[in-house]
Amino acid sequence: MESNKKKLTTASGSPYVEHENTMSVGARGPLLLQDYIYHEKMAHFNRERIPERVVHAKGSGAYGKFTVTNDITKYSRAKLFKEIGKETKVFLRFSTVGGEKGSADTERDPRGFAVKFYTEDGNWDLVGNNTPIFFIKDPKKFDDFIHTQKRDPKTNCKSPTMMWDYWSLNPESIHQVLILMSDRGTPYSYRNMNGYGSHTFSFINKNNETFWIKFHFKTAQGIKNFTNSEAEEMRGKDPDWAQHDLVQVIEKGDFPKWSLKVQIMTQEESKTFKWNPFDLTKIWPHKDFPLIDVGVLELNKIPDNYFADVEQAAFAPAHVVDGISYSPDKMLQGRLLSYPDAHRYRLGANYEQIPVNKCPYAVNNYQRDGYMRVDGNGDSNPNYRPNSFDDIVADESYKQPPMQLDSSVADWYDRNAPGENDHFTQPGMLFRNVMNNSEKKNTIHNIVGAMKGIDGPKKEIIVNRQLCHWFRVDVELGKAVAAGLGVNVENILKELGKH
Ligand code: NDP
Repeated sequence: MESNKKKLTTASGSPYVEHENTMSVGARGPLLLQDYIYHEKMAHFNRERIPERVVHAKGSGAYGKFTVTNDITKYSRAKLFKEIGKETKVFLRFSTVGGEKGSADTERDPRGFAVKFYTEDGNWDLVGNNTPIFFIKDPKKFDDFIHTQKRDPKTNCKSPTMMWDYWSLNPESIHQVLILMSDRGTPYSYRNMNGYGSHTFSFINKNNETFWIKFHFKTAQGIKNFTNSEAEEMRGKDPDWAQHDLVQVIEKGDFPKWSLKVQIMTQEESKTFKWNPFDLTKIWPHKDFPLIDVGVLELNKIPDNYFADVEQAAFAPAHVVDGISYSPDKMLQGRLLSYPDAHRYRLGANYEQIPVNKCPYAVNNYQRDGYMRVDGNGDSNPNYRPNSFDDIVADESYKQPPMQLDSSVADWYDRNAPGENDHFTQPGMLFRNVMNNSEKKNTIHNIVGAMKGIDGPKKEIIVNRQLCHWFRVDVELGKAVAAGLGVNVENILKELGKH
């Protein structure tokens, strides 16, 4: 008898009746190869996992909207900023960085803060973190750096020795390490932290003028962090705490919000800025480059299926839209290549057809074929250009002004050359001017606890090298860390005196 109920079917749509029991030769006999349904079920099950992200493997995501609250059209012609009140659909994925897909949400780690804006000029991905800076400023160093945050090749355990060896040999990391060691390294939830585009980007206005930009998302929920011991406790109690928290608040209608703000630097200002304005280990001080309001980001829907949308979400800093563009920031330049490359490996060449990644507006080009092409593949339209048949145009109004460069000399970048080597002033500003006494105390406690894990035959060299860096940030900080580690400060001061 026909009924309105859905029938159980194979993947090819053929209805079947036996889901749990195999076809076999009697109760005590072997199975029959012809039980295709069993093979299909198991074969698909064996293929359920896709490669996890090498970094940012553990994540949580939600849909929402971005609403413009302030007119910034004199800086950017991007259509999503066109008028106050304009709304754009977004998808945001938060993540930890170094842990695997099953790791705890409260690990001491930066947090990813990646936003996809579905704009009428294509998808804009602002792929940031919860810190305004990063550990390194040359992308060629990224794989080595991440290896030190992952597992030791022999013990397969995390290794504080590898971490501090690398950080101490790369003093440009210290600004980010200081933030990581503060209580901001263990945010209470994804709702209670800021997001930053981190890189320097550019805005282009309708007169083709270019401005350098930093993006900031300020949490409306307020900054709230775990102390080290609270984070450790939560790791055991609920390793998926941040995921639970995000799902719970959104499901009950308590939608988290952030205000998007920008700092703007003119081309002229960039020439006289005290630091390299394209250096990812540096911030732009607020008093020199005040925050300008842009809009409000709200998260209001948990995806119905985690794998479909959160696991398959693919963000790329290369995805900008008219009115927003790149800068000479070397880390950004490196990420323009590596993010789409990672997605092609993980999800395939057609990853932008997966619903969460798909531009909801027109996509017209001559890319064809490849694994999992599921969008009709351009139908019978020409697959080459130029051609005499279609009416696809390259619209000149989207042309950007040329990027002006200061140098015509090609050579290896020296991150420690004069002008590039001030690794210490800004972390010093953070420690001395921004942190209150209790934040300082917790930060020192966390640094000492983390550095106590350094072990092995090079322990003394690594500890002393890193201590020198803490002293260069701030003498009181250096002294406090040395005291916590039980190290004689005289030797360190002698070492510092040599430089
Ligand atoms: P401001 O006093 O104007 O700003 C200080 C900033 O530090 C605020 O954005 C604040 O964020 C943030 N902050 C507060 N506590 C911490 C912490 N424990 N770890 C990281 N950030 C924290 O100073 P300046 O702009 O002159 O910058 C001084 C230092 O502040 C910088 O060297 C940098 O280390 C840090 N900083 C600067 C940012 C910038 O873009 N200028 C951004 C973030 C940090 P909130 O207001 O949301 O609490």
